[in-house]
Amino acid sequence: MDPLISYSLPISGLRDGLHQFDFQIDDKFFETFEASAIQRGDLKVHLEFDKHPSFYALDFQIEGTVWKECDRCLEPFDLPLYAENSLKVKFDEVEREEADVVYITRERKKLNVARFIYEFIHLAIPMSTTHDMADQDCDPDFLGFLTPEAQEAEPEKQEKPSVWDALKKLKDQ
Ligand SMILES: [Zn+2]
Repeated sequence: MDPLISYSLPISGLRDGLHQFDFQIDDKFFETFEASAIQRGDLKVHLEFDKHPSFYALDFQIEGTVWKECDRCLEPFDLPLYAENSLKVKFDEVEREEADVVYITRERKKLNVARFIYEFIHLAIPMSTTHDMADQDCDPDFLGFLTPEAQEAEPEKQEKPSVWDALKKLKDQ
């Protein structure tokens, strides 16, 4: 059985109007995607599916955590994520995707939203992830390997020469 079958919406059978779907994302979800940058996660997805005669509007609300390595101490931690994403589904004779519009044929009976959710979760992860994003401290054992400079969270404060120093220099010349 397709492990992602529960993400398949019976679009042709739905009446026009608003429909709500809820999905629970766990480690198994990420395992079904090859070469996923995320291996573990625990997220809830709420989908509002608004069916119009000529198009569908999908609004996703994603909330939870993904298991991610800290860029500072390299220890994995549960990174909190929250994302809101929208998608429009329109009809055409050729199925394709353009930006946030998905074109499907009128004959299509089901639409699987698993891959969209997968992509939205990846997009929600910041470029750099550190323990403080989860209100946690870095692993002190790992930090022990780092040089004192690398441990310093804030960049070194440098005394900026003031305007008066510059003027003084001019005067002295
Ligand atoms: Zn850390």
